Parts: sequence; structure tokens; C-alpha cells
Amino acid sequence: MKALIIGGGIAGPATAIALRKAGIDSVVYESHPGGADTIGVFLTLGSNGIDALRTIDADAPALAAGFPTPAIDMVSTTGKSLGRVRTSRPDGDITSRTLKRADLYRAIRGEAAHRGIRIAHGKRLVWAQDTADGVRAVFADGSEEYGDLLIGCDGIHSTVRGIIDPAAPAPSYSGLIGLGGYTRGVPVDAQTGSYRMMFGKRAFFGYVPAPDGEVWWFANLPRPAEPARGELENIGPEQWRRELTELFAEDTGPAAALIRAARAITPAGPMHALPTLPVWHRGRMIAIGDAAHAPSPTSGQGASLSVEDAVELAKALRDRPTIESAFAAYEALRRPRVERIVKQAARINNNKAAGPAGRIIRDLLMPLVLPRLANGEQSRQTYAHHIDWDTTTAAPPRPGTRTHL
Ligand SMILES: Cc1cc2nc3c(=O)[nH]c(=O)nc-3n(C[C@H](O)[C@H](O)[C@H](O)COP(=O)(O)OP(=O)(O)OC[C@H]3O[C@@H](n4cnc5c(N)ncnc54)[C@H](O)[C@@H]3O)c2cc1C
Repeated sequence: MKALIIGGGIAGPATAIALRKAGIDSVVYESHPGGADTIGVFLTLGSNGIDALRTIDADAPALAAGFPTPAIDMVSTTGKSLGRVRTSRPDGDITSRTLKRADLYRAIRGEAAHRGIRIAHGKRLVWAQDTADGVRAVFADGSEEYGDLLIGCDGIHSTVRGIIDPAAPAPSYSGLIGLGGYTRGVPVDAQTGSYRMMFGKRAFFGYVPAPDGEVWWFANLPRPAEPARGELENIGPEQWRRELTELFAEDTGPAAALIRAARAITPAGPMHALPTLPVWHRGRMIAIGDAAHAPSPTSGQGASLSVEDAVELAKALRDRPTIESAFAAYEALRRPRVERIVKQAARINNNKAAGPAGRIIRDLLMPLVLPRLANGEQSRQTYAHHIDWDTTTAAPPRPGTRTHL
């Protein structure tokens, strides 16, 4: 069996590695000529994502590229503590890590290359279809490839998703834009690896000191109307520095000072999510990772869920007798989990964009509800998730059985 994997971000190479472990060959087709690194952005790889990478023996380079970040302290605009959110497995066995997105891409791609998996760059998929006994993929450069199945790992603005279901919903805009930066020499009230996130008066701000003393920070700014294409790209770092410094001027804490002294500010982008996708697969094609279920970056789970998807899909293809039944079994397993996490992130986004009255209610209620939401069963389900490679993927439920939320 040969799989055509579309997209060489996180889900793509992770899927290729997992398929190789399951005895299935694949080639990864990536549209960017030299990789798909996003400049400068950092992210958290959850303990569940690390655990999934470990299942396919590919966790070491990602661990080496990041630093441990076990929890987040949430504070209000006045610096009042709103509670601590645990972002790792409660047993402390695996701790979530913060790392540059580009470093995570490099780490996973390196593991794929190490196993002899081919990643073809400059290959933008434009069309695909099932044939009598396989699948045909057509690329923008006019070339074609044939395989037994096609896996769309082509991210939140997926082409594969629309080929599988032309009526598929588009990602929704969260009402927030995001950007970040890196600063040295500004003292902060947090220890190395300890996140602090502030619901500021006018915007949301998070920061974490890295082991080398640099402080990594990000800001989420409410923008009710979705920015037009190119609008944010035209705003340079110095203009952001001025706007952000002013935006956080009234908040307690180091936000304004960190922004003023930043050595680098990353480009801003609108924050999107794909809450629910009715059709994940058709025939021999399936969408996984952000292409099927993108949580907003607020969740801190997009990358981790993509790796989990990769492992579960490879297992299902290993265990089920046909591609279609493997896809159905995979969806039944994954849909409830990913949609729960996507919904949680959407709720937090609403709090980030709260108006004056909403802020008062949020600051009163958050210390009461946060411990239950963030450190209880929900958190355990998210961060302690483990995939057992040796168990067999169960048969898909019979048609008509409700399998998702
Ligand atoms: C600012 C920001 C912060 C984030 N923070 C976090 C975080 O803290 N924790 C977390 O877990 N996640 C975070 N995320 C989300 C995370 O980056 C994504 O969930 C994750 O990258 C999804 O992996 P993926 O492989 O599905 O898609 P992607 O990583 O987007 O990869 C898709 C790949 O497909 C390629 N592609 C697209 N179209 C085609 C085509 N037609 N043909 C061929 N190739 C194509 C793209 O070039 C890209 O390389 C954040 C995202 C952003 C933007």
C-alpha cells in the first residue's frame, strides 16, 4: 500500500513516520519550495503530543528543541491572580514543552528524513480523485502521482477538505488577531518555563522566560471584523511596537516594557478555527490535523492533536481490512476528542475578547471555575491522553450510529 500525504507541516511527516511503523509506504508532498516554516511563532507541544511522538519513536529532537512548561498562571489587568492552569499530565511523567514552530517542523521532518521518507517540495496539490483501484493527485506544476490512498495534512486552509466535500465549511474567524515577540533584559515576575497570561484591559498577553533568559511573548488583539487579505501584512514591526505598547499601557505587569524592548516582533495574523467538519473522508481520501479540525491557537493543542491523528490513522490502516473501514474507525475514535478540545478553546477566545461588563464578570467568575475546568477531568483527558500502539483499532460503528458530539 502506498499513501500520498499532502502537506509537510506537522501532521504530514508525523503520519509518514507512523505509517512506516505500521509497514505502509508514503511520500509527502509539500507546496512550499523549501519547507513550510512560519517565521518566528512559538507554540506549546502538550504532554499528549509528546506522548504520541514517543509512540512512533520520534520525540527526542522535539524535546531537545524546547523547554518544559508545566503550567500557566492567569492574571487580570490589575495583576490579580485568576488561577493556575495545569498544562501537563497530572502524574508529572511528561511535561509539555514550548518551542518555535519552525523547530518543531524541522524536528519532525528530520525524523521522517532519517527513516528515508521522501518529502517532495514545491508540490501544491490542486486536484485529486479516486480511480478504479487507487487515487490520483494533480499538482500545480502539472505533474500527477498515483497511490492507494490520499491523506490531506494540508492545514487549516486545506485543499483536500474541499475535494472530499465541496460543501465543507470554511474556517471561522475568532475575532482576534495574534502576534508575538522575543525580548531580552526586561525583568519579569515569572520563573523559567512558567507562563503568565493576562486578560488585559484591551487585549490578551502571555509571556514565558526561556532558559537562556530571553522572554517569549504573544498578544491576542480583539478585531471584530476579519482583516482583509494583505491588511495585516502591510503593518510593520515598528508600527506594532507603537500600537501594542499603547494598548497594554494601562495594564499591570511587564507587557508594555516587553513590547517596547523587543528584539523581534513576528508578523500578525488573524486567528481562525475549524469547529466542526461534517465529512472527514470520502472513498480513498481523508483530511486530518488542522485540515479536519483546527482548534484556535488558544487551545495550545493543534500540533499535539495533529500528531495524535497521525498515530491513530496509521494504527487504523494497519488494523482494519479496508481503507474505508480504517477511515471510519479512525473518525469514530477521534471526532469526540478533537471537537471537545476545539469547543473549549472557542470559550476561552470569547473571554479574551470581552467588553467592559464581560471583563468584570470574567474576573469574578474565573477564579471559581478555572480550577475545575483547567485542573480537573477535562485537563486530565487532554494532557494524559495515551495511544497504545499494540492494541487493535476497533471496527467502526455500524452506519447510523451516532459517533460524534
Ligand atoms: C500563532 C499560532 C500559535 C499556535 N500555537 C499553538 C500552540 O501553542 N500549541 C499547538 O499545539 N498548536 C498551536 N498552533 C497550531 C498549530 O501550529 C497547528 O495546529 C499545527 O501546525 C497543525 O498541523 P498540520 O500539519 O495539520 O498543519 P500545518 O502545520 O499548517 O501544515 C500544513 C502544511 O501543508 C502545506 N500545504 C497547504 N496546502 C497545500 C497543498 N495544496 N499542497 C501541498 N501542501 C500544502 C502547508 O504549506 C503546510 O506545510 C498555533 C498556530 C498559530 C498560527
